Amino acid sequence: MTKPIFSIIAPVYNEEEVLPELYRRVSAVMDGVGEAWELVLVDDGSKDRSAEVIAHLHAQDPRVKGIGFSRNFGFQEAVTAGLDHALGAAVILTDADLQDPPEVIPEMIAKWREGYDVVYGVRAEREGETWFKKITAMLFYRLIHRITSVQIPLDTGDFRLMDRRVVEAITHMRERNRFLRGMVPWVGFRQVGVSYKRDARFAGQSKFSTLRPMLKFALNAITSFSYLPLHLATYLGFAIALISAIAIVIVIPLRLFTPSEALLGQATTLVAVLFLGGVQLISLGIIGEYLGRIYDEVKGRPLYLVAKRWGYEE
Ligand code: UDP
Ligand code: MG
Repeated sequence: MTKPIFSIIAPVYNEEEVLPELYRRVSAVMDGVGEAWELVLVDDGSKDRSAEVIAHLHAQDPRVKGIGFSRNFGFQEAVTAGLDHALGAAVILTDADLQDPPEVIPEMIAKWREGYDVVYGVRAEREGETWFKKITAMLFYRLIHRITSVQIPLDTGDFRLMDRRVVEAITHMRERNRFLRGMVPWVGFRQVGVSYKRDARFAGQSKFSTLRPMLKFALNAITSFSYLPLHLATYLGFAIALISAIAIVIVIPLRLFTPSEALLGQATTLVAVLFLGGVQLISLGIIGEYLGRIYDEVKGRPLYLVAKRWGYEE
C-alpha cells in the first residue's frame, strides 16, 4: 500500500453508532482530495462494540487502521497514540462523534499547501450543547488564554491539521497530564486558524458533559502551562503579612493606651486564626496539585498500553 499523505486520527470511546458514519463522511471528503489517506481509529478501551466495528471497517477498507488500548486511558492519550502511529505528511485530529465536520478538512489542507504547519479549527458556533457547557467553555478558553505563557488561541479544540514536523515534536513530548491544545501552540512554526460551525453529536452521548471531567481537564490545562496558582499563594501571603503589619501598629497601642473594650475577647483571634489556617491549607493544596503531577512524571510510566492493532501487522 502506498504511504498516505494524510492521516486522520479519531479517538474512540463507546462510539459504535457513529463509526460507520464517520468512515462514510471522511472517505467521501478525502477521496475528493485525491491523495492517499488513512483513518486511524484509536479505541480507548470502549465497553461497547466499537472495537468490532473498527475491525469490520478495517476488513472492508485497509485504509482504516485501528489501535486498541488495554483499558480506558483518556482522550489525550488516545490522540497521542494516534500521532505515534500516523504515517501521513500531514495529520488531522478530529473527534469521532462528527462534531467536527470532515468537510472542513479540504480547507485545512489548502492552508497547509500554502505553507502553514498547523491549521486549527476555531469554533465560531456550537450546536446541540447545553448552555452550561457553552458558558463554562467560554470562560475556560478566556481564562487559559490570559494566564498561560503560550499563546493558546480562543475557542479552539483539538480539531486541527499538523505538518509532519509538528507531529514529530509533539510525539517527543512525553509529558503526563497532557494538554494538547497548549502543546501544539507551544511548538511554534506557522499556525493559522479556520473557523467552522461545531455540529451536534451524530449519535451517542458526550463523555465530558459533567463537572468532574471538565474540572480535571481545566486543572490539567492550568497546571501544565501556568504557575499562576503558585504565584497567587505567594501574593496572598504578602498581602496578609502587610495587613497584619499595619494591624499590629494600630492594635497594640490601642489595647495598651486606651480603655476601649472593643479589642477584648477571643472571637477576633479565632476568626483571624481560622482565616490564616484556611489560606495555608489552600496554599498547601495548590503545591500538592503540582507535586502530584511531578510524582506522575517521575514514575515514568508509559502513556498508554496497546492490546490490539488493526493494519499494523508487519
Ligand atoms: N474520548 C476518548 N476517551 C475518553 C473520552 C472520550 O477517546 O475517555 C473520545 C470520544 O470518543 C470522542 C472524543 O473523545 O471521539 C470527544 O469526546 P466527547 O464527544 O464525548 O466530548 P465533547 O465533544 O462532548 O467535549
Ligand atoms: Mg463530542
